[in-house]
Amino acid sequence: MEHHDVIIIGAGAAGLMCAATAGYRGRDVLVLDNAKQAGKKILISGGGRCNFTNQKVEPHQFICGNPHFVKSALARYRSSDFIELVERHGIEYHEREHGQLFCNDTAKEIVTMLMTECEWAGVKVKLRTEMLSVSKTEAGFNLSTSNGDFSCESLVIATGGLSMPKLGATPYGYKLAEQFGLKVLPTSAGLVPFTWHSDQKIRFEPLSGIAVPTTITAQDGTQFSEALLFTHRGLSGPAVLQISNYWHPGEAISINLLPAEKALDKIEFALKHHPKQSLRNTLSQWLPKRLVEALFEESQLDKALNQLGHGEREKLANDLNDWSIVMNGTEGYRTAEVTLGGVDTNELSSKTMQANKVSGLYFIGEVMDVSGWLGGFNFQWAWSSGVAAGLAV
Ligand code: FAD
Repeated sequence: MEHHDVIIIGAGAAGLMCAATAGYRGRDVLVLDNAKQAGKKILISGGGRCNFTNQKVEPHQFICGNPHFVKSALARYRSSDFIELVERHGIEYHEREHGQLFCNDTAKEIVTMLMTECEWAGVKVKLRTEMLSVSKTEAGFNLSTSNGDFSCESLVIATGGLSMPKLGATPYGYKLAEQFGLKVLPTSAGLVPFTWHSDQKIRFEPLSGIAVPTTITAQDGTQFSEALLFTHRGLSGPAVLQISNYWHPGEAISINLLPAEKALDKIEFALKHHPKQSLRNTLSQWLPKRLVEALFEESQLDKALNQLGHGEREKLANDLNDWSIVMNGTEGYRTAEVTLGGVDTNELSSKTMQANKVSGLYFIGEVMDVSGWLGGFNFQWAWSSGVAAGLAV
């Protein structure tokens, strides 16, 4: 049986970061992964340019059963630390809106950087390795795999979430947590587009491709001001992906189609200055005409503004500033960027990511019940939690 101080299952963002950190501390580290390639999700992230972190990372930008859990790791390894690493490797990057940082060239540079760090830190990486069984011993853990048997003192689970099963996502980390008696919170797709009900599809499918600036509010009051995109299947765009993290099946979302203005003031102003203008022409100055025609009845749109009663104008304004819609569901793990839920953080130390009940067992990255907003926050959690465990194993 081959022995290592530390074995990490999962050569993704969190696993590689943890491996390099532990390796630099002089620990003998082996990373195992069933995939053919390390960091597959990194390679496709951010449209191939990897939104690797954000200039401004704060705990409230993460969804977790225990909102305080993320604070320690995020404070210990900040986005500025990762930016410094990226700069040290000569990777050129740029900032987009809301402080999002992307590679100028390709996400491959981030994988190469992590693999280089692992190599410099003396880490061994074994790919195409299927996990067969894991058991606890007095000194640590024994692992049986398709590539032989291994033993270690510290075992780190970095198997990620369930999103994008085509890339090899598996529930292995959750199963292992349960095997060791740790609670796993129910999982669901996050940062994911919504789908139409069949009647909504008939009405709104022709709008596919239209994007509008909005403010979207979830039932719990969480709000995002970003673009909304109509698709063949439903609603997408950054505003929708963000709010999907706060949505539960059956709940309505409120969409403000004129986020910068009070729609009633605009309608009253238009009525005063152009009383004979049709509602259609008035609204089409503010929103795409096809959207206006899908939202309101033909007979109403044909009316002149001075033919609309006060109550009717108030209702119209409300529909524009607070369009309440109940979507059918989400596109699910197939297109989700993250998985909500996972290994309960109450089972883990927020400083080291070690399981409270099982000495030597650690969980890092997306496998645990921590998900971030769109904008580089999920990778920052992978880096920060990976470093926290890497310093402890
Ligand atoms: P992963 O990176 O998913 O790594 C898990 C590893 O475990 C994989 O290598 C996998 O092969 C391995 N594994 C799984 N099961 C087993 C098993 N049974 N045995 C052995 N190995 C196993 N986040 C951002 O911050 N910015 C972005 O731009 C961004 N873009 C994204 C785009 C897409 C399309 C997707 C799907 C996600 C994106 N994310 C982005 C989210 C981000 O990729 C994840 O949050 C992050 O990769 C999680 O890191 P991780 O190490 O926990 O898991």
